[in-house]
Amino acid sequence: MSTATLSSPPKVKIGPTKLLINGEWQAAASGKTFPTINPATEEVIAQVAEGDAADVESAVKAARRAFDEGPWSKMSATERGKLLLKLADLIEANRKELAELETLDNGKPLGESIKADLPLTIMCYRYFAGWADKIHGKTIPINGPYFCYTRHEPVGVAGQIIPWNFPMLMQAWKLGPALAAGCTVVLKPAEQTPLSALRIGELIMEAGFPPGVVNIVPGYGPTAGAAIARHMDVDKVAFTGSTEVGHIIMKHAAETNLKRVTLELGGKSPNVVFADTDLDAAVEGAYFGLFFNQGQCCVAGSRLFVEEKIHDQFVEKMVAKAKARKVGDPFARETMQGPQVDRDQFEKVMGYIDSGKKEGAKLLAGGGRVGQKGFFVEPTVFGDVKDDMKIAREEIFGPVMSIIRFKDLDEVVQRANRTMYGLAAAVWTKDITKAHAIANRVRAGTVWVNCYDVFDAAAPFGGFKQSGVGRELGEYGLQAYTEVKTVVVKL
Ligand code: NAP
Ligand code: MG
Repeated sequence: MSTATLSSPPKVKIGPTKLLINGEWQAAASGKTFPTINPATEEVIAQVAEGDAADVESAVKAARRAFDEGPWSKMSATERGKLLLKLADLIEANRKELAELETLDNGKPLGESIKADLPLTIMCYRYFAGWADKIHGKTIPINGPYFCYTRHEPVGVAGQIIPWNFPMLMQAWKLGPALAAGCTVVLKPAEQTPLSALRIGELIMEAGFPPGVVNIVPGYGPTAGAAIARHMDVDKVAFTGSTEVGHIIMKHAAETNLKRVTLELGGKSPNVVFADTDLDAAVEGAYFGLFFNQGQCCVAGSRLFVEEKIHDQFVEKMVAKAKARKVGDPFARETMQGPQVDRDQFEKVMGYIDSGKKEGAKLLAGGGRVGQKGFFVEPTVFGDVKDDMKIAREEIFGPVMSIIRFKDLDEVVQRANRTMYGLAAAVWTKDITKAHAIANRVRAGTVWVNCYDVFDAAAPFGGFKQSGVGRELGEYGLQAYTEVKTVVVKL
């Protein structure tokens, strides 16, 4: 592994740093701010207004008004779709600046912000723009002299709490379906990465969304986040983040107004490689499926099951790739891996590496910090990992791969399912029977066959078991923002 030297980051244009409430940029009611850090240099990028319960209160009032009294609820579905398309166009026109801002605040390599985050974000808004005027109910033949039909109405004010691993994209996954369905929104970005969400807020205003439709309140989880989840006038909360906080969100909803809850949580996804696979393709796919985005992916293929017959060959190829991965300045062209998002995440990942060593896994690559400044971790590969080791059970959310041996199909299915998670899984094989056996029998929300991390705004995404509740994206994701109303008319 080599390390790119850290050049000073380019002059990135910093957008708004205040709260967006009712179409206006405001300081927090408390006057407080918090720093957002560049994880490559550990330097403060900007001070951002720190919203808390008082600001959430104002934001919910604005969202309520825009929903209950119009203009949003009075606007036609076609107009809503046009505004979403306008927003997508504005994001596209500003994509270079947005990619740089995302890389500065999050640490992901600029090339990935440009090639992955931006196009997926734009596609998501365009996809849901297309749905806006295609949301409709059914006419249902019921008994008696009645005419029965359903309406799919917006659920109301949506509270949305998003994470830091794909800040702009997670914002799009939340705002796209909510706005297409006709909801208004109070959104809290993650404290680590508020900047791109706020710049998108500016573009939302430029596109012409009426005041109060989208309110953005950066701040901390236990204060601003909890205030959203507990608010009596918030009709639905959508959350992406840790399973631990997912439990808290659901509890808040249960203790207050039974607001609708959708959760997209953690994972410990099994990636199963059979001996009959195209070995190089499987190594490449497993490498990408784990190391992409500094390993900070909820779907990371972090339990890599490799069939015994090809195990040693596979390991040799994987270790060579991990050692060749270039870690360093996220703005440098050759960089493949930037820093972890913050000190907490860095320390958490290093703690898991320690635990792997202590529990007797074999350290085959990496294992250390890169440099003395910035939260860089060496791409790390453990071999001889056993199912009951902590690194094979808990979500690491970093560039740490666990390679686990298996012998046959039934055994690997059972072991793959022995987890509280169920977000994603993958299988590598040329045998269609084995591929479908994994696809059908592994309990996970997404199964990739001979590929990994393939996402599309049209394909639903979410978790079985403690990986989540409900689905995002696609038609299923849209449904999570509507209520079904049944109307019965006597004829
Ligand atoms: P987290 O605490 O679950 O954060 C996700 C979001 O929830 C952030 O906006 C956070 O606010 C907010 N939040 C935190 N506590 C809250 C509360 N009591 N009420 C309402 N909202 C709350 O995740 P994290 O601490 O950043 O990361 C911890 C671990 O979570 C990671 O190591 C990883 O395993 C997992 N994770 C998963 C995903 C995913 O995509 N599923 C994404 C991120 C993290 P703050 O910004 O103030 O924290
Ligand atoms: Mg930051």
